[in-house]
Formats: sequence, C-alpha cells, structure tokens
Amino acid sequence: MNTKYIFITGGVVSGLGKGITASSLGRLLKNRGYKVINQKFDPYINVDPGTMNPKEHGEVFVTDDGAETDLDLGHYERFTDENLSANCSVSSGKIYQSVINKERRGDYLGKTVQVIPHVTNEIKYNIYSFEGQADIVITELGGTIGDIESLAFVESIRQVGLEKDPDDVIYIHVTLLPYISGSDELKSKPTQHSVKELQSYGIKPDVLVCRSEIDIPKDIREKLALFCNVRPENVIANLTADNLYAVPLMLEEQGLARAVCKKLHLKNIEPKNEKWEGMIEKTRNLKGEVKIAIIGKYVQLRDSYLSVIESLRHGGFANGVNVSVDLVDSEEINQDNVEEKLKLYDGILVPGGFGSRGIEGKITAIKYAREYEIPFLGICLGMQMAVVEFARNVLGLIDSNSAEFSNSTQNPVIHLMDNQRNVTKKGGTMRLGAYPCKIKKNTLAYKVYGQENISERHRHRFEYNNDYKERLEKAGLICSGTSPDGNLVEIVEHNKHPFFIGCQFHPEFKSRPDRPAPLFKAFIEAAKK
Ligand code: GLN
Repeated sequence: MNTKYIFITGGVVSGLGKGITASSLGRLLKNRGYKVINQKFDPYINVDPGTMNPKEHGEVFVTDDGAETDLDLGHYERFTDENLSANCSVSSGKIYQSVINKERRGDYLGKTVQVIPHVTNEIKYNIYSFEGQADIVITELGGTIGDIESLAFVESIRQVGLEKDPDDVIYIHVTLLPYISGSDELKSKPTQHSVKELQSYGIKPDVLVCRSEIDIPKDIREKLALFCNVRPENVIANLTADNLYAVPLMLEEQGLARAVCKKLHLKNIEPKNEKWEGMIEKTRNLKGEVKIAIIGKYVQLRDSYLSVIESLRHGGFANGVNVSVDLVDSEEINQDNVEEKLKLYDGILVPGGFGSRGIEGKITAIKYAREYEIPFLGICLGMQMAVVEFARNVLGLIDSNSAEFSNSTQNPVIHLMDNQRNVTKKGGTMRLGAYPCKIKKNTLAYKVYGQENISERHRHRFEYNNDYKERLEKAGLICSGTSPDGNLVEIVEHNKHPFFIGCQFHPEFKSRPDRPAPLFKAFIEAAKK
C-alpha cells in the first residue's frame, strides 16, 4: 500500500483544537488497523521550542529520542499511543537551519538558494521521511491559513498533492462556525473566507471540520458544501465534548474517519473502538475528588504543565476518582502562609522548571509536605529541590542549594557533571530523552513500578551530587533508582513518609489515558487515602 498523507490546516481563529482533531483521527485510523504517525509543523523561527518560555507556547514535550517538541506531540502520543520522534516536530527554524547548513557545505552546487524549491524540498523531505514506516502520515500545520510565516509549509503540502497519487492525499481544514445567540444561528461566512484563502494557495480542502457549539443544521451544511466546494457529507461537526478523550468517539459518530477512508481509498475496516469507549465510560463514572496542588512559576498558562495535568487525570481514571488540579504560584508561598495555602490539598506536586524565581517557595512547600506527611511527587526540578530541602532541614546543611541557583554555596547537593560544564549553547544541549533506570528492591519506587528496569524521559542539566549520598541516605532520603552503572541518581524517596518521592526524569511524557504513568497512578492512590 502507498503511504497516505493527511494534511490538517486551520482557519478563522487559532485554538480550535486542531491538535486534538489530528490526534483523534490518528486514534480512529489506528483502531481500523492502520499504522499511523502524527507530525506537527510549526511556522516559528525557533529551531525547536526548547528555548521558549513555557508561558509563550506551553510545555516542551520530550520524545524518546530526545527531541524538544511542540506540546501537540503530547496529544498525539496520548491519543494514538505511538512513540514519536524528532522528525515529527518541525519548525521553520529547523528547516532553515538545515538549508543554510547545506548551503555552507556547498551542497547546492552554486545555485541560488530559494524558498521554492530548496526550502519546500526540505519540508517535503520531512513529510516523506516516514515512507515505509507508516501507512498513514497525519501532518498538522500550526497557525491559521494566511499567516505569513506558514506560506512555505502551505506551498509544500500543495506540492505533495501534485507529486503523489490523488487517492493518497487528503486536505482537512478545521474552522469555526460562530454561534449568534440572538438569532440562534451558526455563521458560515468566516469559514467561506478561510477556504477561499486556502484555495488561493492552490489547496482545495476535501473535508471541513467545523468547531461548533451546536450540531450543524442541514441548510448550513449544504451552504458550506456549496460555497466551499466540498461534499455535504464531508462537512464534519466538531462539537464540544464533555471530556477531551471523548473527542475521537464524537468525531467517529460525525463520520470523519469514514470520509477520510473514502477519499484515500482505504478500506473502512470496522473500527475497534470498544476499548476506548470502555475507558470513556470509566471516566464518566468517577467518584469523589482528590485535590492536587502543582507548585510552579508558570501558573498563568495551564498549558505550561499540560502533560503533568493530563497524567494526574490519568491517575484519577485508574483510581476511579476525579482529580482537581490547582496551579499555586511558588513565588507566593512562604513560611508564614504555607499551611494556609496548602492545607486543603490531598497531594503536592512540584514539577520541572528552570531559573531561581520561586525556588524558595517550592522548598517551603516540600518541607510542609514532608513534615505533615502529605503525599508528595517531585519531578526533575521538584526532585532536586526535595534533595535541597532535606539537606538543609534534616542534615542541617543550611546553605545547601543547587549549583543552578548559587555558585557560592558550600553544599551544592545538586550540581553539574563534567560533561555539562563546558556547554555554552542553550538549545538541545541538556540531558534529553529516554535513559534506563535501575530500581532498588524493597523501595516505594519498586512498589510503584513493579519492576527493576525502567526507561523514562529526561530534560535537565543538573544532577544529584553523589558526595552527599551517604549522609542523605543515612538521614532517610533513599536513592531508590539510579542509572544502571549507579552513577546518576534518578529517584529519591523518604523512608519514613507514606508517599514522598522525587524523580530526575519526567514520567508525565509517557502517561496515557488508558495506561497511566506508574508514579501518577500511585501518587493519586496515596492522595485518595
Ligand atoms: N533546572 C533543572 C536542571 O536543568 C531542572 C530542569 C527540569 O526541571 N526540567 O537540571
């Protein structure tokens, strides 16, 4: 079978859930037995989002192969349960970097290097890179049609339509139908304009996925079909679902996968949706609520902690309980108000982060969780700060700190290893991607994972300082997981606390709604008690 290409563009406004549409379609096609890979194009000039403030663009999602990618990859992985790779997240910056490197090497043999064909060829190279690996490649284009920055991508996907067999390529345009409450009607005009714009670039959409508050009445559907030059049955309503993970089922009902299979001449095999339906059923029957506080500094934008929040929900699904998550600003926590601020929570989570702002508030929250025996999960920076807190308040090394925040401390319990000391460039130079970890038996970590050898994804520069290991362990902060050679500490836990655990890696990147990351499942279980 030829590889099939699905392109998803957006119109009218951003934030329509294009990523969720792409993820959901991936799941529906996978449930039909096809091997699917999702890919995201981001028109910004950054080579990857790794150097961006999460407040700008949300969290940075990390793949097994160590790519720092757009958060939509997290949705793709959670919905399709496929581990993606660096080629699945491509920005203008990455494309231009590659083109310019080739130009400097002399690869273009004296040619004038231009957007067409050199940049577009580079983009297409990324699209075609999955040939042979997948039956279907779903490529989502970030931004909205008409953005200056995305023109080269739009032109590239147009070219794919010409280069490949017409039966192998489909264009899906995701738009918004605004609802006017006064006249109780949906408006089709913005979609018409957006499709017109798309067509001016030479792309004729085959399917319209229309975000709408209410079901689309027949007359509007027909009007959209007529004016946008698509078949009426290919106007798909994208309605508000009660739960993010219910979107695939809603889109199944609306006929999205059916329409796609028809256009691509794919056998519309009876989808195996039962397992997913069963999971949704479970999420609709959760009982009670567990309240979790995430102590962070990017609290203005929930997307900054997207995978962590989703993983907490997955932990809730597995424990049959609703999870409510509050983002608590670490800069506003101090010794005097910590009890007031955190006493209502069943669990405290300190997530990853960079830079010194809000650090003392995090340490104060960790101390509170430790002393009051509140379930605690520290992730990456959260683990590092748990070590600092323990060294300061239990070992009595009061000036303990991470070398990230103090170069004068006598007790850098978190420090840089030699291989990071000479790094000067910021982008892509941390310890990134999947690393193996060996878990000690008879520990909480072993109970959580139920196995000795695990692999989790990393994104950090600093590490636990082994010079303090003996003293910290003696005082009760056990190193329950290390790199297989024992040199890098990957998990710490408190041996006299019901649930106090920190990990140097990011378990949230491997959590799935139907297969929660073990640490989140156990954390919610402890919080439920
Ligand atoms: N800033 C810390 C480091 O670089 C932690 C990073 C993180 O939490 N992802 O090691």
